Amino acid sequence: MADTVQRADTKWVYSFGGGGSDGDASLKNLLGGKGANLAEMASLGLPVPPGFTLTTEVCTAYYDLDRKYPDGLEAQVKEALSALETKTGKAFGDAANPLLVSVRSGARASMPGMMDTVLNLGLSEATVQGLAAKAGERFAYDSYRRFIQMYSNVVMGLGHDTFEYILDDYKERQDYHLDTDMMAADWKEIIGHYKAAVQSELGKPFPDDPMEQLWGAIGAVFGSWMNDRAILYRKLNDIPAEWGTAVNVQSMVFGNMGETSATGVAFTRDPSTGENTFYGEFLTNAQGEDVVAGIRTPAPISRARADELQSDEAPLEEVMPRVYQELVAVADKLEAHYCDMQDIEFTVEDGVLYMLQTRNGKRTAAAALKIAVEMAREGLISEQEAILRLEPGQLDQLLHPTIKPDAKRDVIVTGLPASPGAAVGQVVFDSDEAAHLAEAGRAVILVRVETSPEDIHGMHAARAIVTARGGMTSHAAVVARGMGRPCVCGAGSLQIDAEAGVFRVGGREIKKGEIITVDGAEGQVLFGEVDMQQPDLSGDFGLLMAWADKVRRLNVRTNAETPADVTVAKEFGAEGIGLCRTEHMFFDAERIPVVRSMILAGDKKGREAALEKLLPMQRSDFEAIFGIMGELPCTIRLLDPPLHEFMPHSDAEMEEVAASSGVDIKVLKAQADALHESNPMLGHRGCRLGITYPEIYAMQARAIFEAAVSVAKATGSKPVPEVMIPLVGTRKELDILKDVVDRSAKAVFTETGMELDYLVGTMIELPRAALQAGEIAHTAEFFSFGTNDLTQTTLGISRDDAGRFLTAYEHQGIYEKDPFVTIDQDGVGELVKLAAERGRSTRDGIKLGICGEHGGDPASVIFCHNIGLDYVSCSPYRVPIARLAAAHAALKEA
Ligand code: ADP
Ligand code: MG
Ligand code: MG
Repeated sequence: MADTVQRADTKWVYSFGGGGSDGDASLKNLLGGKGANLAEMASLGLPVPPGFTLTTEVCTAYYDLDRKYPDGLEAQVKEALSALETKTGKAFGDAANPLLVSVRSGARASMPGMMDTVLNLGLSEATVQGLAAKAGERFAYDSYRRFIQMYSNVVMGLGHDTFEYILDDYKERQDYHLDTDMMAADWKEIIGHYKAAVQSELGKPFPDDPMEQLWGAIGAVFGSWMNDRAILYRKLNDIPAEWGTAVNVQSMVFGNMGETSATGVAFTRDPSTGENTFYGEFLTNAQGEDVVAGIRTPAPISRARADELQSDEAPLEEVMPRVYQELVAVADKLEAHYCDMQDIEFTVEDGVLYMLQTRNGKRTAAAALKIAVEMAREGLISEQEAILRLEPGQLDQLLHPTIKPDAKRDVIVTGLPASPGAAVGQVVFDSDEAAHLAEAGRAVILVRVETSPEDIHGMHAARAIVTARGGMTSHAAVVARGMGRPCVCGAGSLQIDAEAGVFRVGGREIKKGEIITVDGAEGQVLFGEVDMQQPDLSGDFGLLMAWADKVRRLNVRTNAETPADVTVAKEFGAEGIGLCRTEHMFFDAERIPVVRSMILAGDKKGREAALEKLLPMQRSDFEAIFGIMGELPCTIRLLDPPLHEFMPHSDAEMEEVAASSGVDIKVLKAQADALHESNPMLGHRGCRLGITYPEIYAMQARAIFEAAVSVAKATGSKPVPEVMIPLVGTRKELDILKDVVDRSAKAVFTETGMELDYLVGTMIELPRAALQAGEIAHTAEFFSFGTNDLTQTTLGISRDDAGRFLTAYEHQGIYEKDPFVTIDQDGVGELVKLAAERGRSTRDGIKLGICGEHGGDPASVIFCHNIGLDYVSCSPYRVPIARLAAAHAALKEA
């Protein structure tokens, strides 16, 4: 950048409109989004008020030069301004025929925090007379006082209240009620008061020289690039400071010159549904932001829309039929030109239409889907382009039932929108009760202060979850997203009295059993049953997903263990199971006593007796899963957590277990203490447990193979088990346990007279395992990257008990990108890549997948594609997201 600053011939200023443009839409980086599109629209022959753009390079140079403008800029602005005078036939600062301009910021991507637009710039004591002569005194002085207000606020930093106070005070004294009561003389007097206020509050006069005003506004735009809001926004959105912003100086057109003038915004298609109808709002006799400011209610643009809204206001179509037709034609032209739905801003000055902005319109996920599919059908874009038009993350909004857009909402409390979707049910405060009622066919909403692993069954049984405490990565939030349950968490004002069976909030009291609705996308808890709509997975959705499946290379599996989740995942297109956690099956209320008696058994014999009882239970779990998945591969992880997790925690539970198992409570407590891991993440667990108690893994492996054989015999389709050993750090560990698994397999195959293909592999979830991958691959037939634990162990960052990711620097107000959300190139991603390479170099074609939360994160999916993994695995509701992300990865690579 530094050398462009020195070059004398750098083009800093690009003109647009009035018969041609220096730039076009391809120069978005240089001219900013607004400037590039103004140039493009002008070149298309659309009616754009002419103007010029100071490039983003000026901004960069300005900061490189310590807030000074680069050489040549001033001369180029002068030149562009005089060209603009020629085009408009007006002169800047001319008392008789003044040119007035707007000064508009415009970064590459539209960015909140940037300077607001200044309108009517160029008005002064002298030029206001020229405007008055042309357009009337009242209009001219009203414009002048608006300009003073806007400029003082936006450029000079004076608060709005100063001016509002003056105006209100004046009206009161004159007994005026509306702005329209104000006549030219009134505005003249107000202008005097305004100027005096600027002088007294800021200690300097309001600039009367248009040239000084212009440079003041330009400086303010560049200055706003480094204001706190803009800096924070860039930080949060990974926008580099070097990008800079452009400044657009554009000749003014007036939508406030009476009833034949208007200003408005429009979308070429409905941005909330995607329907191909012209959509927008306008106000007659209005300027600039009046449409969005909400002072007057804008009217719909089309008759059809007015009818739909049952609006009494006359639509533009009827108020200005000729302008309307022209606007429709412009909209069609723009959409066909940009091949995307456009969001446009226009102004009508005395019956003449002007275009002030166009950009690709923001839209809901539903609209994005519909627009992409329809545009592909209309031949406007290709199928591949349609795939890229939908952000994978957006799909989340489409996969859950949602509240009907026009439903009435009685909001009880608002919290964090932790997991999307909506659900209706009766309030329950206890997880056991939730499970119980759900079994009886009731729809329940689990409301808790916070959740812990012991609530899993209640969360699973609930239609939605609400918590008073915890953030977006709290246990409740993470688990709910994984299960696809709507969740509102951290609703801090909820006072839950579970004993009394009520929660209180804002003077209301909701009792257990009362019906509420949870809107997880909005973070709202609503009273009563609110109307819902079901997601439509066929139609446009099905079509787009089919297109995506054609181009992707990565396979997509799911992390699931219950038949319900496995079924949902398969419907969502899962091509196998990437992680079936067997311990979840052990927590079942019926089984946990058997699990505990196994743990508490003093010797191998006792353990084997308990395992004997668990075997048929595990077998039936796997039969169900294989039955659903058919010949799709299923990775089943053998027991992973430390045993203390299965032990009773509270004294009451202890007593209950002691009573039912006949073990003395003191002995029980001593055993639980002995099992307790001081570092539960890395202690005696996973393969370490499997090596100490091989009979556990032997039983699990037997259950897997017996189930596989029985399903194969019953259905004729052969299950594909992939047995996964957790927490391996070295090849030796895997050698020992693969042998255990192989022996179980052999025994089952001999007993049943049927042999099936299977794989034995490991989860790579320790940095040591990643480094040892070349060795481990001698034994492992597949790797599955367990990137949740791998992230914690690699980065040395943990989660708290509520599952909240602890940012080391949070207390200093420094926010880091959440490493649990995206695999970075450095750290975790680098280890995954290295392990994949080492694994492949030992075992050609070793099967590689990922089963951490990253498997459902679009950016991480792209990373996995790029390093050549075979599949990603994610929670059932994220399967379509991963499928789409995998397609994006393939298309972006090509
Ligand atoms: P934003 O980036 O917030 O959309 P804009 O620069 O588009 O800000 O300006 C906001 C509004 O100001 C426009 O929608 C338009 O109504 C009005 N405006 C901007 N420039 C002009 C102009 N040259 N003539 C008339 N109105 C203008
Ligand atoms: Mg705008
Ligand atoms: Mg682990």
